[in-house]
Amino acid sequence: MNRARLALGAFLAFMLIAPLVLPAFHVTLLNYIGLYSIVALGLVLLTGVGGLTSFGQAAFVGVGAYTTAYLSTAYGVSPWLTLLLGLALTFVLSLFLGFISLRLSGHYLPLGTIAWGISLYYLFGNMEFLGGHNGLSSIPAISLFGLALDSARKFDYLIWTLASLALLSMHNLLDSRSGRAIRALKGGGLMAESFGVDTARMKIIIFVHAALLASLSGWLYAHLLRFVNPTPFSINAGIEYLFMAVVGGAASVWGAVVGAGILTVLKQWLQDLLPRLLGQSGNFEMIVFGVLLVILLQRAREGIMPLIVNRFPAPRRPLPATTQVLPKRARPAAGEAMLEIRNVRKVFGGLVAVNELSFAMNSGEILGLIGPNGAGKSTVFNLVTGVLPGTGGEVYFRGERIDTLSARDIVPRGMARTFQQVHLLPTMSVLENVAIGAHLRGSKGVISAALRLEREEEAMLLAEAARQLERVGLGGHVQEQAGSLALGQQRILEIARALCADPVLLLLDEPAAGLRYQEKRALAELLRKLRSEGMSILLVEHDMDFVMKLVDRLVVMDFGEKLAEGLPQEIQTNPAVLEAYLGGVK
Ligand code: ADP
Ligand code: MG
Repeated sequence: MNRARLALGAFLAFMLIAPLVLPAFHVTLLNYIGLYSIVALGLVLLTGVGGLTSFGQAAFVGVGAYTTAYLSTAYGVSPWLTLLLGLALTFVLSLFLGFISLRLSGHYLPLGTIAWGISLYYLFGNMEFLGGHNGLSSIPAISLFGLALDSARKFDYLIWTLASLALLSMHNLLDSRSGRAIRALKGGGLMAESFGVDTARMKIIIFVHAALLASLSGWLYAHLLRFVNPTPFSINAGIEYLFMAVVGGAASVWGAVVGAGILTVLKQWLQDLLPRLLGQSGNFEMIVFGVLLVILLQRAREGIMPLIVNRFPAPRRPLPATTQVLPKRARPAAGEAMLEIRNVRKVFGGLVAVNELSFAMNSGEILGLIGPNGAGKSTVFNLVTGVLPGTGGEVYFRGERIDTLSARDIVPRGMARTFQQVHLLPTMSVLENVAIGAHLRGSKGVISAALRLEREEEAMLLAEAARQLERVGLGGHVQEQAGSLALGQQRILEIARALCADPVLLLLDEPAAGLRYQEKRALAELLRKLRSEGMSILLVEHDMDFVMKLVDRLVVMDFGEKLAEGLPQEIQTNPAVLEAYLGGVK
């Protein structure tokens, strides 16, 4: 048995025995840690993994708590029904708030969450039927199979059963096709979009998921205390929840439990200690928390969980076995029209990055796109792949006009790219990074992932990723962290990821940059092999030696315009090109 399993076993055994043997006070602490863990788990997903900060989670806890408090006291509705109603209400509310807030970028998102967090808090306090600031009392106990869960000890089992289920389903979710898409949101989502991830939708999904967990925690809270008032759902509580997620860290779902545990115990301890030290009472623990958070962010940015995880290294998982393979697209006929751009234009503010550019390429061709830095080559890639809207002109892919389509619609038509600046997720394995390329070749969503109903598809996606890694010569690095690869290997990883999309046209943005001589030769060999298999490649590259030996034809750009087009020999002797571009080099 490995250490991670052993730790999990010890945790479960403790949770089973603790409510029976611990003193009442400690059981209560355990209750709270469980309640907070559920909320913090949502924030681990939303903030830790997805990079979206919310200060407003306490308000969703309040929605869950008040829904059941009101309906069960005023109308005698069964708590199990109010749970569903509370979740439904939270779903609608968070969908609405998500749609407004998630469009806000940068610092405006956290500010937006503060705004609606405060609004909901005042709403709870000002609604007459919710008891105003006095709240609602005499909330009934939950009964389960005729057993009333009317003590902290009994209730503890319900809290931790639900917390464990939430942890398990979150763990499953993160370890899936959707999980990879969610993890790819951090860092802007450009790469995720380029492989067809609907990043706006993914953001909404994790926002709603986090809200539902908060609401579940609120339902439990109301029936544990049998009393609610607005205080625990204030923006202060929202900040504490965020603390928990940050302190625990997003390295694994257990960060939520660790963060909730540490903050709950520490707060209790400080609330006892500080008034004695200072001789007066007040919320001094918040100040200490603030200081500790600053120290933590300086010393361990990723939270405490990575420090623990590294002591319990997970065993290398063998690839799941599968006999099935993902369907492959038919190769295009030799010489078929592949890509044509007509009078394409892109203006950034006052800067004309691409100006009336036209060229075409056929299948089975390697076309080099060269030009000095800032000529507009990468912008052409962004226009062709649909990550940037053009200012003018038309783009055709296999005869079909695509400049009006989004990246999500272009990828499945058979186009994939790499990036000039590598875009990978450094703490994810090489295999998982590459599997993102196959995103659109799978279809299973978050719910099947959380319930582990997509294992067959997942095995096929991972097998495809492994096959492409083998194909590009990175077969020996499958399980390593992507961030630990040398820069050259990271570029090759990006090619494998692009191949995972089953493209017929590859767009490679400076793939040889940072590669050593031998690696460049291997890359050239790989690209030739791909061409011989019918792949078309649009290649941006600065290494002239590499380009001239490899490509069939060249397009030269300068200041956003086409300077020349032709065979490598023609370009090498073209006076305009020599003058403008190669002049200083050769
Ligand atoms: P290349 O890849 O040929 O080096 P780029 O396409 O990256 O050139 O850039 C062309 C020009 O467009 C440069 O002047 C660059 O600063 C500008 N540019 C590129 N992307 C953006 C952007 N997103 N916003 C504003 N300007 C940009
Ligand atoms: Mg560039």
